[in-house]
Amino acid sequence: MRGLMMDTPLLISSIIDHGATVYADREIVSQTVEGPIHRYTYAHARARSKQLANALASLGVHAGDRIATIAWNGHRHFEIYYAVSGMGAICHTVNPRLFTEQIDTSLSNALCYEELIDNHSDEFAWPQFDENTASSLCYTSGTTGNPKGVLYSHRSTVLHSYGLALPDSMQLGEGHCVLPIVPMFHANAWGIPYAAPMTGVKLVMPGPRLDGASLTRLMTDEDVTMTAGVPSVFLGLLNHLEETNTRVPSLERVVIGGAAASQSMITAFEQKLGVEVRHAWGMTEMSPLGTVSVLKPDMRDAPEADRYEVQGKQGRPVFGVEMKIVDDDAKLLPHDGKAFGDLSVRGPWVCSGYYRMDHSPAHDADGWFATGDVATIDESWYMQITDRKKDLIKSGGEWISSVELENLASGHPEIAQAAVIAVPHEKWDERPLLIAVPKENASPTKETIQEYLAGLVPKWWVPDDVVFVDSLPLGATGKVLKTKLREQYASPHSGTPPKE
Ligand code: AMP
Repeated sequence: MRGLMMDTPLLISSIIDHGATVYADREIVSQTVEGPIHRYTYAHARARSKQLANALASLGVHAGDRIATIAWNGHRHFEIYYAVSGMGAICHTVNPRLFTEQIDTSLSNALCYEELIDNHSDEFAWPQFDENTASSLCYTSGTTGNPKGVLYSHRSTVLHSYGLALPDSMQLGEGHCVLPIVPMFHANAWGIPYAAPMTGVKLVMPGPRLDGASLTRLMTDEDVTMTAGVPSVFLGLLNHLEETNTRVPSLERVVIGGAAASQSMITAFEQKLGVEVRHAWGMTEMSPLGTVSVLKPDMRDAPEADRYEVQGKQGRPVFGVEMKIVDDDAKLLPHDGKAFGDLSVRGPWVCSGYYRMDHSPAHDADGWFATGDVATIDESWYMQITDRKKDLIKSGGEWISSVELENLASGHPEIAQAAVIAVPHEKWDERPLLIAVPKENASPTKETIQEYLAGLVPKWWVPDDVVFVDSLPLGATGKVLKTKLREQYASPHSGTPPKE
């Protein structure tokens, strides 16, 4: 027997309609590329989205067309999200930091955005269509090879927004003010621009200014309560706060994801600044939210070290995401926090295939998508990433986790950032090499770092060598590019990098 409920399609246009009516006066504040702060309301944002939809229709844009954006987080980008998807076209957010050969975009007919929408009406009836229609297109980071296109649908986006807003997820609502540092061209800024009008959260957009000083100023001026981004940007923010001995009084919570948050980053936020860290994991293929690490009620009074250990894990699945770990024979592994294996996921906001590669599904016969991550899951369902499968180091037949070594090394008082890669070794096949950025005015030595690590990991895990560098190569989404490091350092291990 079928249920007798309305079959209203889950459409992105309904999100902005909700925001523009129920939270009409709620603000969107943007740091513009030009310099001044731009400030308006959800009602005004919808009006301008509709002007843009009319402008695009007059230029001949039809349902199913792909409209590319190259833009920072700001009000105009927000309007494009809703105009393009709302009219049934597909919003393709291009990552401006990708290699030029991966971006096929010519700007010969560039128009001024404001002039483009200026004379158009702000009346536009959003069309109604199947909720499984494609809404936006985002490419994966490409840290492992060529980026692949993930094609989101209206349905997946709306359901993901509900998941994002949940209390033990990003906890969005009218009482909060959120600043997505994560770019709108990286997995749709983790879905925050969609969940914002759904929940009435005040939205603050940082534009191109992601340095510690600019973020601190904007968060302080706008009373931001929550922000979200990758560890490398938070490193800049923490350094600035420490150097200037300041804090952001309104800031209650940071969501750190995209790469592992180190223990030292978690303690810096929690102990020094009184800011709750929510470590999150996901991927472009998952819209991107998968897990969030929030302490269970019975863990809140546990000793600090135990609490930080749990927060260092990537967390528990949000409703909508099923996950499992399996061994090489696809056999389920136990949830004991120790056994590690391939992490697979499935759910309504996980991709089923890649754009223009739809001849082959992205999942197995039972619908499981192999993430390429290797993880443990404990008794309480907290998942911990041990590595990307290809980043694991196999030394003498035993696995060494590069993520764990990086995490521990960046806890050393003289180390700002660390990356660990495998280098070929005659006897052991592979050995770990630590590449580290010292803190300002610090001059750590290979021996002090090795000694420090020897106190924390099995002896054979200690990297044979430590190379100190001024900075680590970052990819288009702010993550350390291990491919680049391997190119530079992965000659049979000599202890020194090959000449450029
Ligand atoms: P992307 O599609 O660019 O967001 O990259 C997704 C990949 O980033 C995941 O498969 C993980 O390898 C990695 N990742 C995301 N979040 C975390 C995290 N909190 N800790 C460790 N790795 C992460």
